[in-house]
Amino acid sequence: MHDKIGGYLENVTTAVIAGHTRPDGDCAGSTLALYNYLRDNYPQVHVDLYLEPVAEVYKVIKNADQIISDYDRDETYDVFFALDSSDKERLAGAVKYFDTAKRTVCIDHHISNEGYADENIVFPKASSTCEVLATLMDMDTVDVDVAEALYIGIICDTGCFKHSNTSEQTMNITGKLISKGIRFSKLTDEVFYQKTYMQNQLLGRCLLESFLVFSGKCIVSVADRKVMDFYEAQSSDLEGVIDQMRITKGVEVAVLLTEIGDRKYKVSMRSNEFVDVAKIAGIYGGGGHIRAAGCTMSGTKYDVINNLTMFIEEQLIQND
Ligand code: 5GP
Ligand code: MN
Repeated sequence: MHDKIGGYLENVTTAVIAGHTRPDGDCAGSTLALYNYLRDNYPQVHVDLYLEPVAEVYKVIKNADQIISDYDRDETYDVFFALDSSDKERLAGAVKYFDTAKRTVCIDHHISNEGYADENIVFPKASSTCEVLATLMDMDTVDVDVAEALYIGIICDTGCFKHSNTSEQTMNITGKLISKGIRFSKLTDEVFYQKTYMQNQLLGRCLLESFLVFSGKCIVSVADRKVMDFYEAQSSDLEGVIDQMRITKGVEVAVLLTEIGDRKYKVSMRSNEFVDVAKIAGIYGGGGHIRAAGCTMSGTKYDVINNLTMFIEEQLIQND
């Protein structure tokens, strides 16, 4: 394992970067940070970045317009960088480039990552993939655009430095990013806190329709297709909803289902103190972190809720 990104670029003329399906802030931030860093420091390497379309807010990052969101090309690359993706399947359409690349490198922070690439730089204690990536970069050659991309990933995965994954290293790295002259106040407001009117309406709707189970220790809500269609919303418009559910007084676990297909739900889970939601997501083929995890499940919403709450109850009882 090399301690810096440069180590993976020897004799490399073509590189590909990809992240996970339905990219979040850490995914968009880390892939674009690496893309911009390689373009700045390794101009001899041709780099392509494959990612599903990113939410509007992440388009403030430099070169977001260079993202390729179709997988039609038949290219073979010297090196494949998989970022923020805990398993190979999460790379979605980019898997074909992963399978044909001469060498694969995975940079991640998910505890559920079992190491599917040739080289796996996975630090489950790191707040974000952006934090791991920053340690692999030479800070002297990180410019303000790369620094802003890394900052965005860090604030998104730490909930602006309030989640338990925030560490001394997170703050030290963020300090270095601030010294690059990033617009941290503006980015914090515009990327993390700002909501469109529609997103606020959707947040209200999900909270209004939520319900409590297990004496208020678990809160559940469902964003079904008819609600999503009514607001012309995408899953990324629900960002932050689960965090608001999680801070409900007395709640240990929050569960949000988003209907993404016929009898198909994207599940997001958060916990506060003791429930291991990564373990529950893992049972259904998903993953994530102890306090934040997700998976995709099939069945009616009642089936999905029944199945999940059974495992949640098991852990709640153990702690009683
Ligand atoms: P979110 O609820 O914000 O979509 O995801 C929370 C965490 O769980 C993130 O770290 C995300 O990468 C992970 N996660 C969400 N859905 C899945 C999934 O379907 N599979 C895996 N392996 N991880 C997921
Ligand atoms: Mn992440």
